[in-house]
Formats: sequence, structure tokens, C-alpha cells
Amino acid sequence: MKARGALFRLSIAAVTVLALAGTVHALRPEPDVSQSLYLFGTLVEVEIHGVDEAKAKAAIARVDQHLQHIHKDWHAWRPGTLEGLNAAFAAGESISVDPTLAKVLERGRDLACASDGLFDPGIGALIEAWGFHADTLPEGDPPSEDTIAALIAPHPTMLDVTIDGTTIRAANPAVQLDLGAYAKGAALDLAEDDLRAAGITDAVLNAGGGVQVMGSHGARPWRVAIRDPFAWGVVAALELAPGEALHTSGNYERYLEAGGLRFSHILDPRTGRPVTDIVSVSVLAENGALADAAATALSVAGAQDWPRIAAQMGVENVLMITGQGEIFATPSMRARLDPVGGDFPAPVTLVDLPASPRPRCN
Ligand code: ADP
Ligand code: MG
Repeated sequence: MKARGALFRLSIAAVTVLALAGTVHALRPEPDVSQSLYLFGTLVEVEIHGVDEAKAKAAIARVDQHLQHIHKDWHAWRPGTLEGLNAAFAAGESISVDPTLAKVLERGRDLACASDGLFDPGIGALIEAWGFHADTLPEGDPPSEDTIAALIAPHPTMLDVTIDGTTIRAANPAVQLDLGAYAKGAALDLAEDDLRAAGITDAVLNAGGGVQVMGSHGARPWRVAIRDPFAWGVVAALELAPGEALHTSGNYERYLEAGGLRFSHILDPRTGRPVTDIVSVSVLAENGALADAAATALSVAGAQDWPRIAAQMGVENVLMITGQGEIFATPSMRARLDPVGGDFPAPVTLVDLPASPRPRCN
């Protein structure tokens, strides 16, 4: 598989739920009920299996309400709770948030620590400087060397955020939160809780780069596919076990185009610059926040260092595609993948994870 630049223009969902064609329902079960909801500029498709339409619709309405709340509370650049939090950090003040957001922040801090700060939601000012605080693709020039240097000099990191119950403060006024790298996964985790509370056991939630499942599709597991970032088509399909989450970070969906170059929306907090050599990373894990954060962290870690960071974050199932079209996978991930049509787009290099100690994060 060769890198084919023109195809980076594709703005496609990284993961897709495969149609379960040809399923025979001897007992005429209820048809699946699905609806598209909206969160952070993406459609979230919720599909529920095995219950009557009224029950499914009521459950989806509950999720919708919650997602709208999350959209307002966690949004990095619209007026809302996070804006207030960032203003408080800049002023050196503490602020109180609701318990759900406090838990999500705590999780973000732990994941930042486990990733050695390669995933770090504390770099919001840097993300804004690159133009990614916008619903559309950014336009204009990249930030100057001086601007980047000034933004990384005070080392903004989520590890400087203290979460004491629901009271939040940052020891470093340069910390500005942007939860974009794990918000989708964390939000889908909460949506799953909502569905469970509404009596739903079998469902799939698909938000473009992330897909999470509950239960199964009747007698069969939910089956999804990872798209080929270089071409229309898929790299592989796989079946997700109940409770699993698969998140893909790609540099082809959001980027800044300037001077004939494309700059990824995934930034390396150490340099303040976009990731260049990784096109996509997919992580399969037991919850969305972890899978989403790890996909971003491993994109930053790059082709050399990702096995160590994956081990530190406690994820085992990883698939990475580089700008050269190389495919790396952990043996456990490879074992899950079914190359649709017989072959992967390029040979898959198997990479064992080292026995890295999990960092102490408190
Ligand atoms: P997607 O939004 O396509 O699922 P990611 O999960 O990788 O992709 O999230 C990318 C977003 O995360 C960026 O748009 C930005 O808001 C934020 N971000 C970029 N780099 C980092 C990083 N190193 N650590 C934490 N957040 C980041
Ligand atoms: Mg992510």
C-alpha cells in the first residue's frame, strides 16, 4: 500500500458498523431501532436490538438529552462549563463542577499520566493556536515558532490539575482543558450507562472514529470494520465482544491546510507541533475513554515508541498505519482482524508489547 496524498481529502468515518446481511430471524424478533444524535460535530448513531420500538426510542431520548448536556458542559470553545473552568485556571482560582465532569477529568488526568503526557488534555491553548477550536477545517497560517515556543514553555499539563471531590483547580495558569481526544469515548461510556438504566442490553453506538457495543446482535456478535485511510474500503472487519470499544484516531479527518502542507489535529505536547508520520491508530479496549485516549497517545508516540506507551496505558489491542502505508499490530489485535476480501492492504508486522510497569499516577 502506497501513501496516496490525494486520498487524505476523504472525510470519512474511521469505523463502520457492518450491515448484518442475510440474517434469518426464525422468531421474527423486533426490528432494530436506530437514530442519529449529535455530539461535538459528529453524528452518533445509536442502534438498539431486541426491544420494541417504544422502549428503544425512550432509551435513545434519554441518551440524547445526556449528550446535549455533555456537548454544552465539555465543549472546548463554545460557552459552557469548560470555558468557566479554563477562565478559573487562568485566574488561579478553584471552581466546582458536577460529579460526572469531575470523574471524567480525573480519568483524563490518570490517562495523561499513564501516557507519559503524550495524551494531555491540558494543552487546549496550543490546540486553539493551531486553529482547531472551530467546527470547520481551520484556515490561515500555522502559529509562528515564537507562538509555539511561548505556549509550550510553561509546560501546561493536566497533571497540574487537582480534583478534590468536585472542586477543581490548576497549579499552572497555562493549563487550558480541551477534552477532544477522549471526550467521545467518555461520552459513549456514559451513554451506555443510560441505555443500561433504560433496560437495554444489546446496542451499538457509532460516532465515526469510535464504536462501542453492549451485548450482541441476537445470536451474533456486533461486527464492525476499520476503514482504510488511503482508499475507499476497509482494512479489516472484526467482531466486538459485549462491552468493547474500538476507537480510531486519524490525521485525515481534521487538519489545517497551509502552504501546500496538511497539519494533523493531533499535536505532540512536547514540541507543540502536529504528528506527521502516523495516519491512523485503532485501539480496542474495555471502555471508550481508554480506547479513545490511547488512540491519540499512540499516534503521538509514533512507530518506535508506541508499544511502551500502550503497555503503560494497559491496552493490548492496537493497529497502527503509518504515512508510508506500513501496518503494525499487536498479536492479540491481529488475531481479532478479518481481512475483508482475503488480504490486508499491506503486510501486517506483529509487535509484542514490552512488560512496562504501569506508572504511578497520583
Ligand atoms: P478524533 O477527534 O478524530 O476522534 P482524537 O481522538 O485523536 O481524534 O482527538 C483529537 C483531538 O484531541 C484534537 O482535535 C484536539 O482537540 C485534541 N488533541 C490533539 N492532540 C492532543 C494530545 N496530544 N493530547 C490530548 N488532546 C489532544
Ligand atoms: Mg482519541
